[in-house]
Amino acid sequence: MQPGTVYLIGAGPGDPGLLTLKGRDYLAAADVVIYDYLANPVLLALAPQAEQIYVGKNKGKHSLPQDKINQLLADQARSGKTVARLKGGDPYVFGRGGEEAAYLHQHHIPFEVVPGVTAGFAAAAYAGIPLTHRDVTTSIAMLTGHERPDRKLSSLDWNTLANGIGTLVFYMGMTNLEFICRSLIAHGRSPQTPVAIVQWATLPRQRTVTGTLTTIGDLVVAHDIKPPAIIIIGEVVNYRDELRWYDNLPLFGKRFLLTRPKEQAATFITQLQALGAETICIPTIAIADPPNWQPLDDALSTLDGFDGLILTSANGVERFFKRLRTNGLDLRRLADIQIVSVGKKTAQAIEQYGLCPDLIPKQFQAEGILDELLEHGVTGRRFLYPRAETVRPVLIDGLTAAGAEVVAPTAYRTVQPQKGADMIRHLLTTGELDAICLSSPSTFDNLCAMIGEDLPTLLGTTELFSIGAVTSAAIERHGYRVALEPEVSTLDDMVDAMVQHYHPRTVNS
Ligand code: SAH
Repeated sequence: MQPGTVYLIGAGPGDPGLLTLKGRDYLAAADVVIYDYLANPVLLALAPQAEQIYVGKNKGKHSLPQDKINQLLADQARSGKTVARLKGGDPYVFGRGGEEAAYLHQHHIPFEVVPGVTAGFAAAAYAGIPLTHRDVTTSIAMLTGHERPDRKLSSLDWNTLANGIGTLVFYMGMTNLEFICRSLIAHGRSPQTPVAIVQWATLPRQRTVTGTLTTIGDLVVAHDIKPPAIIIIGEVVNYRDELRWYDNLPLFGKRFLLTRPKEQAATFITQLQALGAETICIPTIAIADPPNWQPLDDALSTLDGFDGLILTSANGVERFFKRLRTNGLDLRRLADIQIVSVGKKTAQAIEQYGLCPDLIPKQFQAEGILDELLEHGVTGRRFLYPRAETVRPVLIDGLTAAGAEVVAPTAYRTVQPQKGADMIRHLLTTGELDAICLSSPSTFDNLCAMIGEDLPTLLGTTELFSIGAVTSAAIERHGYRVALEPEVSTLDDMVDAMVQHYHPRTVNS
């Protein structure tokens, strides 16, 4: 059998957006992904088809020794598989990628290398430090601060490093930071030379400490900065005061738990991340089939008898159109039916099916929607309203009272997911969450059910952010305080409200 190709892919330093397009394509085509500790596991979502094998190492604790990793790569390729070997940063910068490639070469296994953004470059960019600047330096050295038994740090050419090179970038140097600083000073570098330490660069948990060759050791201890971190030494560090941008983003360093399914939170996640926040998505609702399809099927078989179709959520839209197909029907059956879409997201979901909603009420809550529908005249009209199992009766009652007929079969149920409770508990216990974002009453009802009576204690200072009045009412019903509710119940407004929450705008005079 022909061996498959091994792609040594640089995953970049952490921010998933820093993966190359080529890396993304190879991940999508892989049969197996073999990945490291410093490769952001979020990237595995780009290879859902592939088997995923973690061989990560975490300072001294090798979960798999290098020779075993080499063998694993070769064995997988020999069985004909396309192998994506995903490595943190760049595979050929302090990543033992050279050893892996050499092993594959010796064993006649084809390989390719996809470079990645190396942590040293990324740390500099995200900390606001240009590695070269024509006014202060024209050279960079990238070094490892890690000692090997056979190659001591003391054997480095400290004289050249101290006097001949402008910017020094050390990887894996935290354990030997004192030694590095002392050696540079001893060989003539000014003790006042600026130093920056960037921990977890490019991720919302990035932390940067600056000092000088003399002070940085104590500062690192005081700020409890641990690996993984990059050490940048040189005059360029001074530019950070002016050029820092990442840690100035309005939601930088905040961690939010999102409780709706990831597919439905995609835009929200992107927006929050672009503002510097870390998002953790653990859904507290899952979508399930209705207990009985019959009522919806009955309605679908008599579509001709309806004047209007009311769709109030993207889930409702998905379920409705799928069921239409399951019943052997297609969109032509909706030709004469007025389509009412509640919310922009619902309208987008409808448009995916090539249909344009006739009416998109401006209001988001049932009361407001009802008023708008009534304005259009509903007496004597028949509406089909495929809905979630539990909805407030406002719309149905109001339309019926106004002389309309409403058929409202259940199209889906939201249920409590099987998984996730332990993870949420862990996040709350370690006090790592700034807030939980809740977008419907059931997201909070289920959270309470999943965590149980420990929730108040575990929440501690974690705040609850609500999308709107109905969700807030559910939160308050359980006895909790809502820390934030946007004026308009959309995720865009929620993002604005979150920024406002942490940076109250001063009223312009
Ligand atoms: N091949 C990788 C380097 C692997 S060596 C690359 O090109 O980036 C591991 C070291 O890289 C860590 O000890 C740390 O010094 C650095 N490193 C990797 N990711 C980092 C990150 N996100 N922030 C800071 N340092 C990082």
